[in-house]
Amino acid sequence: MSKIRIATVWLDGCSGCHMSFLDMDERLLAIADQIDLVYSPLVDAKEYPENVDLALVEGAISSEDDLRKVKTVRSRTRVLMALGDCAVTSNVPGMRNYFKRDELLSRAYIENATVRPGIPTEVVPRLLPKSKPVHEYVDVDIYVPGCPPSADIIFSAVAALLDGRMPELNRKASFG
Ligand code: SF4
Repeated sequence: MSKIRIATVWLDGCSGCHMSFLDMDERLLAIADQIDLVYSPLVDAKEYPENVDLALVEGAISSEDDLRKVKTVRSRTRVLMALGDCAVTSNVPGMRNYFKRDELLSRAYIENATVRPGIPTEVVPRLLPKSKPVHEYVDVDIYVPGCPPSADIIFSAVAALLDGRMPELNRKASFG
């Protein structure tokens, strides 16, 4: 049987959801022979590959870079899971939505700068006007809320999909 190709993606999040994924501990070993981890901050792949079966997406869409990435992920992935409250609701990154983008940039890079004040024009991805949840830009198949979702919940969702079943939190997708 061919292995399920899994990716994990880190957008505007704190990496806590990835830490929770790793907190599955020995259960990762239990599913290791069923999956190929083809893209993730945890592995060395630089380009998001084609034909990914399941992507766990952490974080909100806050920058042009996030938006470009999530569109690529969606176009190359069968089942996209919004992992954690930042991906599901925009959560912590969304707290900046009460302010205008220019006010934020000025506060961060000019008013609070102790050296070389100035808004960066390169390297730092350009912020979108608002930080939004993943489903505002691309279709999401499964929502796994929590900040972070517990390792138990992540495992139960992933294990159900590997088993060809709908996770209890599922809206519409499975591999079956
Ligand atoms: Fe971090 Fe919570 Fe957002 Fe996950 S949902 S990236 S743990 S702030």
